[in-house]
Amino acid sequence: MLTQAISSEALELLETPLTRESAVRLLSVNGIEFPALLSVAREAKERFKPGVITYSRKVFIPLTNLCRDYCGYCTFRRDPGQPGALTMTSEQVLEVARAGEKMGCTEALFSLGDKPELIFPEMRETLRHLGYKSTLQYLEAMCELVLLETNLLPHPNPGLLSAEWIRRLAAVSPSMGIMLESTNDTLLQLGNAHYNAPDKVPAKRLHMIAEAGKQNVPFTTGLLIGIGESLEDRVDTLLAIRELHRRYGHIQEVIIQNFRSKADIPMRDAPEPTQGDMLRTVAVARLLMPDMNIQAPPNLSAPYYDELLDAGINDWGGISPLTPDFINPEKPWPHMQQLEERTNAKGYRLRQRLPVYPEFLDAVTTRPGLIAERVKAIADRDGYVRSAA
Ligand code: SF4
Repeated sequence: MLTQAISSEALELLETPLTRESAVRLLSVNGIEFPALLSVAREAKERFKPGVITYSRKVFIPLTNLCRDYCGYCTFRRDPGQPGALTMTSEQVLEVARAGEKMGCTEALFSLGDKPELIFPEMRETLRHLGYKSTLQYLEAMCELVLLETNLLPHPNPGLLSAEWIRRLAAVSPSMGIMLESTNDTLLQLGNAHYNAPDKVPAKRLHMIAEAGKQNVPFTTGLLIGIGESLEDRVDTLLAIRELHRRYGHIQEVIIQNFRSKADIPMRDAPEPTQGDMLRTVAVARLLMPDMNIQAPPNLSAPYYDELLDAGINDWGGISPLTPDFINPEKPWPHMQQLEERTNAKGYRLRQRLPVYPEFLDAVTTRPGLIAERVKAIADRDGYVRSAA
């Protein structure tokens, strides 16, 4: 038992709700306090979901990389005419989805720029040519296409959505998401990470997450560290997510993501968070949210990504055997076999989940229509992927 290996002081930390002040302090602990923090976080994870680490086998569908925002760390977005600018056709979408289906994937992650047609006439023309009035209308049709033509379940991540668009996309996808990233709105000021990114206003993103909660849509969100925020901001962002989940009970996954620098981004000279920063943040997230799913992408902590298991994550997120991580293309996902071996070496069994987590399936299987049928057909009685390890 891990509990026997940690001190009584550490156990007290486990039994007592963490205050904001303590959480901020723990984000910078060093020395012997650091391994003690990790032990407590790992024990908290074991109390929540003992012995198991999950992942979703997915294909990544970058429906369009045109975006009206200009986040300082983004290597995904393009303007029309820039090398690599792309809006996928329905044939391309289906080709990727079918290839993923053959490789045992169950998730089609639609990741795309936010409302590019609002500033780019070229995108309005592309959409007109495709037969749609907006990127979201095109996304809705592509989710439906994937749902009708394959066994994959769409999980859209299209940026800010109105209540009406949450409702429409929930008819063609079991779950959806938006990264809250940070509650610090000074990041929108000139020279900061979210300058000229109107969709990154924290209040708007919090409002959207609350709307999804009112509609009982299983929702994925998270924190991005290393974009100019303070330690207090990190804790406040986690507390804001926790508060929304306490109010609506719909946040199925909290992603802890670390900024990675790239040569071709405005923030190329900004320092990356260290592995220690990442582990402390994951551990504090686990202690603030002991009964919520905490995920961190392994490819952004390679080659030592298995250390994230020591800090209390219980999920690796979406892993693709087929498509690269288009958001961080220089950081390939680990090979499935290596991921499983490293997970086993830390004492856990790896299990494949759907894009919607097992404990949130009821919110989907009670919906009218095709989505409920599809989810029931893929899930086993524990809510994991049927016939999958
Ligand atoms: S991070 Fe998202 S919203 Fe920001 S520029 Fe990139 S694609 Fe657009």
